[in-house]
Amino acid sequence: MTKMITEPERTIPVLGEVDVLVAGAGVAGVAAAVAAARVGAKTMLVERMGFLGGVAAAALMTSTTNFMFTGDGRQVVKGIAEEVLDKLAERGATSPDWRTRALPQFPFDQEAFRVVLIEMIQDAGVETLVETWISDVIKEGNVLKGVVIESKSGRQAILSKVCVDATGDADLAARAGAPCRDTPPDSGSLLFQMRNVDLDKTVAYFEEHPEEWQQYCDRVTPLEDFIANWRERGIFHLPHGGGRNMRLVQDAIARGEYIREKGLCKDLDVFGMFAYRESGAVLINSCNFRIDHLDIRTHSQAELEARRLVPLTAEFLRTHMPGFENAIVSETAPMVGVRYTRWIDAGFDLTAQHVSEGARFDDVIGVETAFADHPKGGVLHPPRTHDIPYRIMLPQNVENLIVASGKSVSTNPRGLIRGQVSCYVLGQAGGVAAAVAARNGTTARDVNIREVQRELLRQNVCLGEPDRLAQLGLA
Ligand SMILES: Cc1cc2nc3c(=O)[nH]c(=O)nc-3n(C[C@H](O)[C@H](O)[C@H](O)COP(=O)(O)OP(=O)(O)OC[C@H]3O[C@@H](n4cnc5c(N)ncnc54)[C@H](O)[C@@H]3O)c2cc1C
Repeated sequence: MTKMITEPERTIPVLGEVDVLVAGAGVAGVAAAVAAARVGAKTMLVERMGFLGGVAAAALMTSTTNFMFTGDGRQVVKGIAEEVLDKLAERGATSPDWRTRALPQFPFDQEAFRVVLIEMIQDAGVETLVETWISDVIKEGNVLKGVVIESKSGRQAILSKVCVDATGDADLAARAGAPCRDTPPDSGSLLFQMRNVDLDKTVAYFEEHPEEWQQYCDRVTPLEDFIANWRERGIFHLPHGGGRNMRLVQDAIARGEYIREKGLCKDLDVFGMFAYRESGAVLINSCNFRIDHLDIRTHSQAELEARRLVPLTAEFLRTHMPGFENAIVSETAPMVGVRYTRWIDAGFDLTAQHVSEGARFDDVIGVETAFADHPKGGVLHPPRTHDIPYRIMLPQNVENLIVASGKSVSTNPRGLIRGQVSCYVLGQAGGVAAAVAARNGTTARDVNIREVQRELLRQNVCLGEPDRLAQLGLA
């Protein structure tokens, strides 16, 4: 049994009192804070890292999967997700031609991304604390009243009418005693970037060796699309898992010139790669952990092991992958990217069936496209969309808390809508709902959903086609 001690009761200073407190500044948290402030709420954002963006910046996952277009080419996600991509494109940090379903991914320059998020937060008037951990919640009965933070200023409290949990691990929900699910092993990866890569040469290698191209892996991408996306749009995406089927990789492993796994670090041969030409950097995603990332000892061991393996993977690429001969590791991610850990049980799950059937919900707070399985492997965009319902963001047994990360909303399977696009959509909705609840003095659970939907429409969020909006009384 774990040895326990009892902490003494403490009186701590209140740093601030706000309408909406957003915990965690990944893409969901940033979207939540910007959206809440745009409704007029006094909003504070708290982040443990020294910059914003979460997995998309701190874990270097600098590419957004295209869940914005249907298979027949309609753009169905707008709002803050679209704003971020437009701002990146304006400053040459992603392709100006990103508005197409032909692109499986929108890779972007991470430094520009960090600045774009800061500008959006500041333009909206959000007070932001960085390098600040949220270590506990403050409750009266089952009503959440704020959070306890730890920083170089010590231990302090922030009181808030409504809180948005965008920590990605449902930290606030768990601390508040809401029912959560947590079924490790969880999936995480340590990503890194390389520069001095000649991607023209890499693309030419696949053109000359079409048998090496893994069309039915990840998002189905014919070789000609892969080549055109690079040459015409400057976007490079080697599907995650593709390396596993490449002769170049597997022959090297068979000859003992590379390894598939070491210690806790698995799948060193999956080789997902992402690049936007102007950024000059190639993102390498080639390791997986299958561990409990909430067990800090195991997580620490995995992260340190993976950091030691980055030079090995880089050397493999330099010696075997055409175009990488002079490449250098320019950056390793400041933290491991964790795909999911704990997620809430809201008493209702968005399921894979809802997604594949294009389910509609009266409490829709956003729509997005999903992928349909291709018979030969990989996935494709079908022409339809599905709704995301507000109810999956509301933890049970605690009031005035909205969970906004796609990693931890109530879905079955877990992480069903964890892509960056979904996280922007959920974040924007969570922020608007929190601000409306705070403004009207209702709980987040009892918030007037039509008022939330109207605010979302004002913020350029798509909630469906005109006939659907008319059905909901929103036309
Ligand atoms: C390896 C990997 C590959 C992926 N590939 C893709 C891809 O190709 N395309 C795609 O679209 N998506 C991809 N994803 C998913 C996507 O990037 C994430 O799900 C999404 O970015 C999560 O955003 P978020 O804001 O919900 O959560 P996070 O990005 O996890 O943000 C949570 C934030 O909260 C902060 N935080 C956490 N706890 C605390 C605390 N207690 N106190 C203060 N701050 C706290 C964290 O520092 C972080 O900034 C990938 C994810 C991973 C890990």
